[in-house]
Amino acid sequence: MMPAEFGATPWGRIWVRTVESTAAAGPNPALPKARSLARNHAATLTVETGRVEAEVVVSGRTQQVRIDLPPWSDQERAEAERLVGKALAEHQNLAAGDLPDSLEADLRREKIGVAVALDDMDAACDCRTRRRPCVHVLATLYTLSQRIDERPLLAVELRSPGWEPAAPADPDWTPLADLDVESFYGP
Ligand SMILES: [Zn+2]
Repeated sequence: MMPAEFGATPWGRIWVRTVESTAAAGPNPALPKARSLARNHAATLTVETGRVEAEVVVSGRTQQVRIDLPPWSDQERAEAERLVGKALAEHQNLAAGDLPDSLEADLRREKIGVAVALDDMDAACDCRTRRRPCVHVLATLYTLSQRIDERPLLAVELRSPGWEPAAPADPDWTPLADLDVESFYGP
């Protein structure tokens, strides 16, 4: 089986779901068009924490897209860092930039949102389409999902200012599972 074109990993898939939520109340004709644009590399992305910018070229016209994403709260970030550190310690053979699929489920269980719902992001495009989100924003998000499938760590970096993925594990940090519960809590 060929890997999915969009959402080949759980990390990309949650972003694909965000895009496709626009079809929840009925078919969105902009979605196939947006997929086609992403497939044909029409969107060139610049991604940094909290912001995705893109130039999307459609029939020779370039549209500028900017999408602002809310950062994680300090609490979410601290918990995410803990879970990512734990997951990376348990999966030491991962390629750089990869994250184990199980971590996505761990974050979901802790209600730490990785993708951002369309209502919670601030998306702007300089086209004149009345219907929002426009096809350029949707193509940008599909392309983002592909970038995240290629490098899942990007999904985490997007939400977390100053994330240092290469930082060595805190030597004082002990995974909870490694503690002897009885001695930890004392007699
Ligand atoms: Zn547009």
